[in-house]
Amino acid sequence: MSLSPGAPEFADSHLIELLDGFGLAVKYVRAEGDTLYHDDGAGGEIGVLDLASGFGSLILGHHNPEIVAHAKQLLDEQVPVHAQFSGYSFGIDVAAALNRILRRELGTEEKFYGLFGNSGAEAVEIAIKHAEMDRGMKVAELLDGIEANLATAAEAVAGGAAPSAAALAALGVDTFDALAEEVRRRNAVTAARQPLFLALEGGFHGKLVSSIQLTYNADFRTPFKALAAQARFVPADRVDLAAKIVEEERVALLDVEVRAGAVELVERDFPVFAAFFAEPIMGEAGIKPLTADTARKLREVCDAVGVPLVADEIQSGMGRSGSFLASVHSGLRPDYVVLAKSLGGGIVKTGVVLVRESRYRKEFELLHTSTFGKDGFSSRVALKVLEMLEADDGAAYRRAAERGARARSAIEAVVAEFPDVLLEVRGQGLMLGVQFHDQSGSADELFREWSEHHVFAFALAGYLLHEKRIRIFSTASNPNTLRFEPSIFITDEQIDAFAAALRDVAQVVRDQDSAKLAR
Ligand code: PMP
Repeated sequence: MSLSPGAPEFADSHLIELLDGFGLAVKYVRAEGDTLYHDDGAGGEIGVLDLASGFGSLILGHHNPEIVAHAKQLLDEQVPVHAQFSGYSFGIDVAAALNRILRRELGTEEKFYGLFGNSGAEAVEIAIKHAEMDRGMKVAELLDGIEANLATAAEAVAGGAAPSAAALAALGVDTFDALAEEVRRRNAVTAARQPLFLALEGGFHGKLVSSIQLTYNADFRTPFKALAAQARFVPADRVDLAAKIVEEERVALLDVEVRAGAVELVERDFPVFAAFFAEPIMGEAGIKPLTADTARKLREVCDAVGVPLVADEIQSGMGRSGSFLASVHSGLRPDYVVLAKSLGGGIVKTGVVLVRESRYRKEFELLHTSTFGKDGFSSRVALKVLEMLEADDGAAYRRAAERGARARSAIEAVVAEFPDVLLEVRGQGLMLGVQFHDQSGSADELFREWSEHHVFAFALAGYLLHEKRIRIFSTASNPNTLRFEPSIFITDEQIDAFAAALRDVAQVVRDQDSAKLAR
């Protein structure tokens, strides 16, 4: 097999070296449906079943003919790609279409506002910014209220009232003016604190400056900790622990009240947290759907803390789970929904945050802009994708559910045959994960080494690519889980080819035959 890597000295050389080590540094030259092609070195091409699927970006496959035809037409018709600040953008149409879908799926009459970016992580950053702006406005409202109370107290003092001895002692001052000054000084320090976010252990929300701090994987997150606001993480099966965290992080603003001729100090809860981020199906954690119980507790915690619940549907959304939103399955009721990946139809880069009207801050639009966000081309392609998914009363969602069930039962049969090698298959619709047992205790030295370096799945992937012409990778934060996220057009033959390949590779692992994998 001729697999020709590019010129690694110019970019990504470290990653290419790693991929090359497992025979994965392949130059693909063409893509169609669920197949990627590389050349065979003799003028022909070799097809590979692509189950990596743009890490979940190809719900309609590579170069879907309808999407490609639409994109060509947009270019031929010279549809404006750039018409910023013109009062109309094609993004409005995308937001309108998404409103119809979200209202139906979330069972609400409420309107959602769309804020556009160019990728998943960028959309998450927009959600972070919007939530922080919302929090900042709440802080400003609280401080305004405190100023008004200080003015009322000052008037009362002018009319003969005085601060109580307890109030003066608490702040170590002896006049009302000094007390008011100390209240303002301490509140300014509190107000300048960085916000905190809540997120789930194992969660993945992107790798940009702020979004990486919501991504649980410490290898990705900690080198950049100093750059952005932090998250406190809770396990998905113990969301109730958030209450304890909120109590630990509790901070108060100082306020005053005039009671019976005395100025007293009172505390007001400061909004420390800006938002709670959760994936309805945790993708990079190893394809783990949230339970109905977790979904309910997330809503309860967010209501109690007063923060928006952000459903990161970047990977799980767009029909992959068998409904447009994966939130539907667990009954998750988010305030924000984030979409990207498949929204671009496999050919454009786009992402969007949809914010419930009751949570929306209109001021945000004037502050956040992006040259390419909601550009005419991406927006019109995204609209086409939504039309295709919604066609025939949601036939695409039914197809995702049916194909997913077909694949799942094929994989389950292999898991049942190899319980010593395969732990389980998890997920919903066409978002499936097959977890291998950890090999760090293997008698085979290579198996142990791969496991230790979190590259066991790379070895499996290299074998499957070379021996079976199947391309598949693990999830980012769960290296023992292979991610199966093909398009809704995956055929029975392709599913069966994967199941047969999985059976074969499971046998190699059962035999602890690292030499065969490494070959
Ligand atoms: N959130 C989730 C749930 C994701 O799965 C991903 C990508 N794996 C992202 C955010 C980041 O998206 P992008 O890679 O487009 O920045």
